[in-house]
Amino acid sequence: MDYVIEDQKPQISDELRLIPMWSVALAIALFAAVQATVHLYLAQHQHNLPPRGFLVFWSVAWGTVIAVYTVMVGYVTRDAKRRGMNRALWTPLVIFMPGAIGLVLYFLLRQPIVTACSQCSASIVPGMNFCPQCRFQLAPTCPQCQRTVRITDAFCGNCGENLAEAHAYKDAMRR
Ligand SMILES: [Zn+2]
Ligand SMILES: [Zn+2]
Repeated sequence: MDYVIEDQKPQISDELRLIPMWSVALAIALFAAVQATVHLYLAQHQHNLPPRGFLVFWSVAWGTVIAVYTVMVGYVTRDAKRRGMNRALWTPLVIFMPGAIGLVLYFLLRQPIVTACSQCSASIVPGMNFCPQCRFQLAPTCPQCQRTVRITDAFCGNCGENLAEAHAYKDAMRR
C-alpha cells in the first residue's frame, strides 16, 4: 500500500534554506551601516561621547539585533507563502509593529504548512486522511471507523477492528 505520509516537522536545515538571499545581504548591509554611523559619523560630529568600549558594544549589539530581525522578516515572507497566509498583510506587520510584536504574533498565529495531493494537487491541510477533492487516501485509516491508524498497527486503537484481517480481506477482494 502506498501512502503519502508527510513529515510535518520541518528540519532546521530546511528552515534555514527558506531564508531568502536578499534578506541576508540586507542584514549585512544594515549591520555595516550601523557600525559606520556610530564609528564614522558620531565620532566626528558628536562631542563628549561615551567611552570607546561602550560604543563598540552598543553598535555591535544593535547591529546584530537589526541584522537578525531583517533575516527573520525575509523568513516570514517565504514561510507565509508556503502556509497560504497573506504576505502583503504579515510582512508590514512584522516590520512595523514595535517591540517585535508582529513577529511574535506571526509565530503564534501561523497556519500549518499546506501540502498538495499527489493525485490531483489540491491543497491538503495536515490531519486530513483523504483528499477533499479526489478522495485519494493520504494516511492509513481504519476501514471500520475511518480514524487514522499506524501502518504497523494490528488493531484499530479506536474501535478495535482487526486491521490485519481487514487488509487481508481487502487484498483478497482485489484479486
Ligand atoms: Zn486529490
Ligand atoms: Zn477503527
